[in-house]
Amino acid sequence: MSNQRTVELGRLSWAEVAEEIPRRPIILLPIGTVEQHGPHLPVNADNMVASYVALQAAARTNALVAPNINYGNSAVFAAFPGTIHVRPETLANVVRDVCQSLIAQGFRRIIFVDNHGGNEAVCEQVARELKDEHGIVIGNIYPWGLGYQLMRDTYDDVVAAYGHGAEPETSAMLGMYPEDVVDARRESGTVQPFAGWNPSAYSIVEIPGQAAPGTVYLDSDELTTNGVTGDGSVATPERGQVWIERVVGFAVAFIDHYDTVTRDAAWATKPPSRHLVGVKSAP
Ligand SMILES: [Zn+2]
Repeated sequence: MSNQRTVELGRLSWAEVAEEIPRRPIILLPIGTVEQHGPHLPVNADNMVASYVALQAAARTNALVAPNINYGNSAVFAAFPGTIHVRPETLANVVRDVCQSLIAQGFRRIIFVDNHGGNEAVCEQVARELKDEHGIVIGNIYPWGLGYQLMRDTYDDVVAAYGHGAEPETSAMLGMYPEDVVDARRESGTVQPFAGWNPSAYSIVEIPGQAAPGTVYLDSDELTTNGVTGDGSVATPERGQVWIERVVGFAVAFIDHYDTVTRDAAWATKPPSRHLVGVKSAP
């Protein structure tokens, strides 16, 4: 595996894929959604970043990247033009069917690169169902979430900077896809009171006189005017390069460790369960 074409399953011919199956590489499955990320970032950002991280990490590990599952669970952003979302059960069915298809042909070591928080519960549910059925252990890499954890030391006021459509998302996009960041439309945003609630996030609200917050399910357009929560004015391409280095670095380490731990596992070494042209099937 040396160039970008050879790590993208979708760009290989069936004959090339047939050669990969007995090698038992790890399959990265990028999963995203199409949703608003403020007036300045593309609605496809979750998918673009999932692809970028998966391809960069695959080029440095024993992994192939499957084509993205591009639509996810983003109902909370539905009021913003360009948001395209599917029901959680639709996403679960697609993720499950794609994995069943991979497993049947012998690709049993699967890592999701799910880059949308709203998909997390669905991905975990499907991974656990497939574990029950096939004994396989699926991993998950969440690039945006890793960025939040790994970039804290680069901000003077991390609490003010962080948020949807703010940081470190804007820096990361400036690092990966500078031509897709509309600088003139870059805005910061705040969470505002709505209909008597005083929220701090889409589902977290203050309860007067209580030290713990309460939960109510509000939509993005009810809390923000522009879809942004946080101060993206501190975003820079240089910070984006740090994001890439740290998040891709983590992804490479995760994949290498998964490879070491699972390579000889009984569940990982089972041959294909169906007849495949050009590949030795199970007896
Ligand atoms: Zn998202």
